Amino acid sequence: MLQKVKGTKDYFFKEQELFDYIASVAKNVSELYSYSHCSTPIFEFSQLFSRVLGDSSDVVNKEMYSFLDRNNESLTLRPEFTASICRAFISNSMYQEVPLRLFSYGPLFRYEQPQTGRMRQFHQINYEVVGVRNPLVDSELIKIFAMIVRALGLEDKVCLEINSLGCQESRTKYRNALVSFLQDHKENLSEDSKVRLEKNPIRILDSKSEQDKKIIVDAPLLFEYLSSESMDYFNLVLEDLDRFDVKYNINKKLVRGLDYYCDTVFEFTTDLLGAQNAVGGGGRYDNLIGSLGGKPTPAMGFAAGMERLMLLVKEPPVTKNLVAIIPIGNNLNNARILAEELRENNIAVYLEPQEAAPGKRMKKADKFEASHAIFLGEDEIGSGKIKLRNMKNGSEKLISKEEFYNEFRRKSQ
Ligand code: AMP
Repeated sequence: MLQKVKGTKDYFFKEQELFDYIASVAKNVSELYSYSHCSTPIFEFSQLFSRVLGDSSDVVNKEMYSFLDRNNESLTLRPEFTASICRAFISNSMYQEVPLRLFSYGPLFRYEQPQTGRMRQFHQINYEVVGVRNPLVDSELIKIFAMIVRALGLEDKVCLEINSLGCQESRTKYRNALVSFLQDHKENLSEDSKVRLEKNPIRILDSKSEQDKKIIVDAPLLFEYLSSESMDYFNLVLEDLDRFDVKYNINKKLVRGLDYYCDTVFEFTTDLLGAQNAVGGGGRYDNLIGSLGGKPTPAMGFAAGMERLMLLVKEPPVTKNLVAIIPIGNNLNNARILAEELRENNIAVYLEPQEAAPGKRMKKADKFEASHAIFLGEDEIGSGKIKLRNMKNGSEKLISKEEFYNEFRRKSQ
């Protein structure tokens, strides 16, 4: 039998509706904050991701879907949005467009061990603000995430953790302190972390290994090494979150897995999804565009995993106004004419264009969650009236076409 690739998923019916619903909530919130929708290719030159994410990151080392194309170019299916957005910003020379507020969503690819909430093809909603360094931008992005959480009814299931990674100077000082602490425990570190100790010790703080975790508990904290400028910046972000009553926990151990972050980093987490506790997160990356060869341009962004949001939201809300037309007797063509008329008037109609028994049509109408059904038999055609059934409570009424349109136009406003 034909199989789908491990870690991928086919979406149909309710699941696809839920997916579309989450995307529409995210897009709607992006419009409330005047973000522009943008799309970049799902593959890029592999080098982009190794430069952005760092050669010592798990994503680059173990998770990239890379392949040689027919021209022997090494390409990679995007494992995240930020690298592609920065590449697009630089290659389209968008410096005059700043501040740029961008919203995207779509598929991403990482070769991970699949489990609940962890897929090889997954989807994110993603927001970036390019060209401004200002704590009010950091807090605005966090507020956007909080608004999405609220719009999806998840405020009791998700909480916000926030930290500051400070400036380069703070991190260099901290790195030295961390390395000297970890050197004393080197023999007990996991093999991966022994390598990280040479290449990127701060990433050890993100390690999932139990033996590393025991050591990290007592490690010095980056937070204690923040410069006064970084501390002031962070306090302004927090003050603004307080102003808008966005609740947060300061998590001094939060570093996020990537090299490019500086200053504010944050994550929305849940304890309802086992090991996959991060629903989304992001941070400031003021040095990334410059390090990729662009003009130095500060920026900040976040991404949230759509599959994890789907696991938390569970069901799409039933907001449909779908009318099923049920022809009685020999009236399929009359039903089709009425269906086209309704669709021309922007009313969604379910009608199979082939012959079927009314009972079967009603069952399908239920499956598609039609809110109403119109029965169309000789009597209704003769009287020019519409027999309308409310599918939720079963009540029926005979109304004129005008009354029908009035009711439905109101519903779809
Ligand atoms: P990251 O880019 O790793 O910070 O991920 C941001 C968000 O994307 C996470 O918080 C998850 O919600 C989601 N995510 C990351 N990796 C996966 C995956 N393999 N499968 C499903 N969702 C993921």
